[in-house]
This record gives sequence, C-alpha cells and structure tokens, in this order.
Amino acid sequence: MMCSSCGKRAFEKFRGRYYCRECFIRKYEGAVESAIRRYRMVKKNERVLAALSGGKDSVAMLMSLKSLSRKLNFELEAFFIHLGIEDYSDKSLAVSQKVSSILDVELNVVRIEDYGFRIDDVKRKTCSVCGNVKRYLFNRFARENRFDLIATGHCAEDILANLLKNMYSGNLGWSEKQKPRIEGYDRMVGRIRPLYEMSERENLLYVLARELPFVSEECPHAPSTMWKEIVYDIEKRVPGYRVSVLRNLARERRDEKTEYRYCKKCGEITTSSICQFCRNVMKYSKKSG
Ligand SMILES: [Zn+2]
Ligand SMILES: [Zn+2]
Repeated sequence: MMCSSCGKRAFEKFRGRYYCRECFIRKYEGAVESAIRRYRMVKKNERVLAALSGGKDSVAMLMSLKSLSRKLNFELEAFFIHLGIEDYSDKSLAVSQKVSSILDVELNVVRIEDYGFRIDDVKRKTCSVCGNVKRYLFNRFARENRFDLIATGHCAEDILANLLKNMYSGNLGWSEKQKPRIEGYDRMVGRIRPLYEMSERENLLYVLARELPFVSEECPHAPSTMWKEIVYDIEKRVPGYRVSVLRNLARERRDEKTEYRYCKKCGEITTSSICQFCRNVMKYSKKSG
C-alpha cells in the first residue's frame, strides 16, 4: 500500500485513505487544528494547562498542542496529578516526565497524598472520587497559576460513551459540560477538549507515528468499557454517527444558569456548603480520621 499523498510506503489509514508516517502526522495535526479553529477553542496569547496522565490520548493531545502552539499563538504547560494508585501512578508519572522533556513542555506535578489520602484508600465509588479529585485540583492549580484554559485529552468515544451513560441515568444537564470549549466563570477556569473529534485509534496511531512513550495499561480502577463498545457498534452500523452527534452537541444551547456558592472549608465553587473534594478529604484523609 502506498501513501495517497506522496507515494511513499503507507503507515496507516486515516479517515479512509492510506498515508505514510509523515503524511499521517500532518493529516492528524491538521484535523486537530481544524477542530480547534471550528470550535474556537483557543484565543491568541491564552495560557493553556494540559492534563497529562501518560495514556495515549493525553500524550497525543500534548504533542499536537505543542505542534500547534506557535502557529496558533498560545502558551502551553502540562499538569500531572499523582493519584496514589499502586505502581500505576509512579509509572504514569515517569512516562509523563519523559514525554514532557521530549516535547520541552514544563510539567507541573501535584500529589493527592499531600491532602492526606490516596485513591487506593477509596474502596467504593473509586472513579467518581478520582474524577472529583482531578477536576478540583486542575481547576485550583490552573487558577492559582493564572492559566486561562485547562485542556483535557477526552476523545470522541469518551464523550459519546459519557453521553449515553448520562442519558441512561437521566443526567441531562450534563451535555452542556461536554462542549469542546466551556468558558470560565468566577473561580472556574475555562476548559477545552482539543481531541473532541479524534478517535482513540487515531490518537494511538499518532503517538506511535511520533514514537512517543505512553502508558499502555489501564488504570486498575478503570470502569467498564461497555458504553464505549456500544459507541463502536453504532459507528459501525451508522458511519459518521460520531462526528455528527459531536457537532450537534457542540451547537446545542442551554440557558439555564447553575446556582453556586463557595465551600466553607476551601473557598472553591460548589453547590453545597462544603465541596465534594473537601468531603472526600474529610472522609479518606488519615490526618483527620
Ligand atoms: Zn506520504
Ligand atoms: Zn472545599
């Protein structure tokens, strides 16, 4: 098989055509760039803090943002949260440090052990506690260090799987939070999802084409992949489903304002008097317990 663009030996298929390694990289980065432009994700001179976990998606995000940062004129640093998950966290940190140094991007590291607990101490609802910890620490770090945007490596399947799951549980206001760019307000920093239209497989091939290291094993607490498998099934039966739903989702508007107040303990935004993060700290911290 030959590259349909330059005639060299093909590396892989990208959106229906075969490309050599170099052309694959160019096509992938071009697709990320057009999604960033389409959804106006980044404005000139904004400071972007990219969430790096060491997995293929976040490595693909950091690499593609780095490749576009000069052209689109934004600043870029990376952020890693050490979650205190046996072996997995140390390994992920080592990979994240390696990737950041290859890409020459500054890596900021925060450890939840400094708050008195580890994700391994959480026995029930581990993933929701973990998600809360990540959202909280990202936002706080980004704001305290004057970043304009937090970038996360959610791929198309992540977003669609969450959409299906949340529709099932009746959590409909949720779709608003899954836009490619969400503006910040008050103490909340804005968020972007540069890989909004990119599939897991494309991210993996891009990281391989770029020859970057990544953590291949799943988090030991990772939830079931059932919803993602359903997304793959639908895409197989309805080609183009993924991009179509994502673009409709990005266009949808809702005007309801969420009520919020400030946490009595830490001052971050919350809907109750003490935020979920502080409640997690109180529940799991050895210092307080
Ligand atoms: Zn080529
Ligand atoms: Zn709090």
